[in-house]
Amino acid sequence: MSDTIFGKIASGEVPADIVYQDDDLVAFRDLSPQAPTHILIIPRKPIPTLNHVEEADAALIGRMFLAAARIAEQEGIAAAGYRTVINCNAGAGQTVYHLHVHLLGGRPMQWPPG
Ligand code: IMP
Repeated sequence: MSDTIFGKIASGEVPADIVYQDDDLVAFRDLSPQAPTHILIIPRKPIPTLNHVEEADAALIGRMFLAAARIAEQEGIAAAGYRTVINCNAGAGQTVYHLHVHLLGGRPMQWPPG
């Protein structure tokens, strides 16, 4: 369960600035924020990458994005706009192999991302 730093955050072994949690999800502030609001939403289930998501995880993945939208509202960034990102594997910049959605907002976003 706790093989990555995010697994340890999910189990409570490692502290984090948690903004939301329930039986399936934990959301906490990124240690190295890339925007005024930068929150990571993870499933408690240790799925390494988006490539490992299975049909049975469909509702869980949906709930991650519902949580992102609710947290964006709480953070006051919903109306102005925000971005959700999943980096999959090293070529996309993934560094922690426990699935996570980045929720970024509070500043103008460029497109395409680097
Ligand atoms: P990735 O590059 O998509 O895998 O994103 C991993 C993110 O986790 C990065 O934005 C890191 O700053 C963040 N991060 C790594 N360790 C911690 C931690 O212990 N607490 C909060 N955020 C972390």
